Amino acid sequence: MEDRISKIIIVGGGSAGWLSAAVIAAEHRIDPQAQRPFELVLVESPDIPTIGVGEGTWPSMRATLQRIGLSETDFIRKCDASFKQGTYFRNWQTGGGQGDDDSYSHPFTVPAGYADTNLAPHWLALADAPRFADAVTPQTALFSDCRAPKQITTPEYAFLVNYAYHLDAGKFAELLRQHCTEQLGVKHVKANVLQINAAENGDIQSVTTDSAGEIAGDLFIDCTGTKSLLLGEHFDIPFQSRQEYLFNDTALAAQVPYAEEDQAIQSCTHSTAQTAGWIWDIGLPTRRGTGHVYSSAHISEDEATAQLLAYIKEVAGDKAAANVVPRKIRFQPGHRQEFWHRNCVAIGMSSGFIEPLEASALVMVELAAGMIAEQLPPTREVMDIVAKRYNQKFLRHWNQIIEFLKLHYVLSARDDSPYWQENRAATSIPEKLSEQLALWRYRSPWHQDAGAVDDLFPTASYQYILYGMGFKTMPRQTSGYEQSQRQASELFQKNAARATQLQQAMPGNRELLNKVQKFGFQKL
Ligand SMILES: Cc1cc2nc3c(=O)[nH]c(=O)nc-3n(C[C@H](O)[C@H](O)[C@H](O)COP(=O)(O)OP(=O)(O)OC[C@H]3O[C@@H](n4cnc5c(N)ncnc54)[C@H](O)[C@@H]3O)c2cc1C
Repeated sequence: MEDRISKIIIVGGGSAGWLSAAVIAAEHRIDPQAQRPFELVLVESPDIPTIGVGEGTWPSMRATLQRIGLSETDFIRKCDASFKQGTYFRNWQTGGGQGDDDSYSHPFTVPAGYADTNLAPHWLALADAPRFADAVTPQTALFSDCRAPKQITTPEYAFLVNYAYHLDAGKFAELLRQHCTEQLGVKHVKANVLQINAAENGDIQSVTTDSAGEIAGDLFIDCTGTKSLLLGEHFDIPFQSRQEYLFNDTALAAQVPYAEEDQAIQSCTHSTAQTAGWIWDIGLPTRRGTGHVYSSAHISEDEATAQLLAYIKEVAGDKAAANVVPRKIRFQPGHRQEFWHRNCVAIGMSSGFIEPLEASALVMVELAAGMIAEQLPPTREVMDIVAKRYNQKFLRHWNQIIEFLKLHYVLSARDDSPYWQENRAATSIPEKLSEQLALWRYRSPWHQDAGAVDDLFPTASYQYILYGMGFKTMPRQTSGYEQSQRQASELFQKNAARATQLQQAMPGNRELLNKVQKFGFQKL
């Protein structure tokens, strides 16, 4: 094959660059002794820092780490990682004034019986029902007292309840770099890319660097962060803003020490709504990662900082709030109109970014790298076909991210600022989401609402947000209702019993993480 794709160049060494390198290199064994070896080179600027945030992941990360051959024990020890079992939302519905308990959870475990029994209509019919998530999964019982999703005897990556991780982004990129270069044969070049050189047919032929000369390749992966040096600057693929739907465009990030060294570590990301945004709070073993994501059109930086400091004071004390210096990060919510153009594909921030509510950026990197690894075009001739499919799939993912994130805002009854009022304006709601909400007034979301088998957010996630935020679906009793009601009551009872059992059996997060440091998990 004359035009065989055998040399991949990744530009950028943040989480996106290294994760992509690891997934592709693990799939396509790099053997320098082979007659026509497959090569993967990662070029990273020694001067331009990585974005340094991105601490929340999805359960897919377990499969990704396994796929690239990393031990879970090593990962936890080296990335200051902890277990994440979902998200706990506070003050999203009413603002939590007057002592309201305005909170709900979006756990990673789907409702009991999810394959064939829709528990939502049966939960809606219950008088005095527990909260939706508490009624359908035992996982939220573990949120409340910071319990772990597994025990020290549970093998690596296996679980009793589904989980992902919170991690230190800088340490994660460093571990991936080490693994890629020492175990997976990836070549690491530290140099600034100064120029992109085009071939006669319009593809990228090579990149010129300041200290490593010219580097040629067959496929170029743009992981240069918001710069989007290859896809955005060189190919001029337009950026599509989606700020008309999701207003947030600024973050103030702060690392906060624990008030006490052995303080319990949260089992989920905490997301607390503010007057023009929300604050994330992520518990790592050695510190918390917090930040305020907000719309700069609705609140000044000073006010946003004051809200973040007030939060830090509340959760970590006066001293922590006095010492913290938040780091400002501006971003434009949106994505490129195309992600794969000619022989260049953008992954990570270079392809786009929408605010971190639901932490959907790293999972998109995992999916992108996975698709490239699995469907790597063998020749240039067929690359455009793969690119077309890739662009269709990822546009669908971006649209679903926007619709699903917007759901959190649309359902809010908060009226305390123009931000919340404008978030409910019909013009700011994607058409598909408006249609779904109209239908769900008459029936609960269920499998038939899924657009494709690989949808990012399953119907279960829509149920957790809708019913967590008090959405009402009119009761409708179709044939077979009595029989499924019997199944449903059994599932509710079993779930309550399982929740009690797990609460008693599971160690605290910190206790388990200390044991991982000392003994490690059993290898699979
Ligand atoms: C406030 C905030 C919170 C977030 N929270 C989450 C979260 O909880 N979960 C989640 O999944 N995601 C989150 N994200 C997104 C996540 O941080 C990113 O998706 C992830 O870190 C990947 O970034 P990246 O590698 O694309 O870019 P970067 O980290 O910016 O890396 C860019 C790389 O390109 C290199 N580079 C740039 N120019 C050149 C050049 N000329 N030559 C050579 N190299 C170059 C740089 O040196 C760097 O190595 C968050 C983002 C923000 C802004």
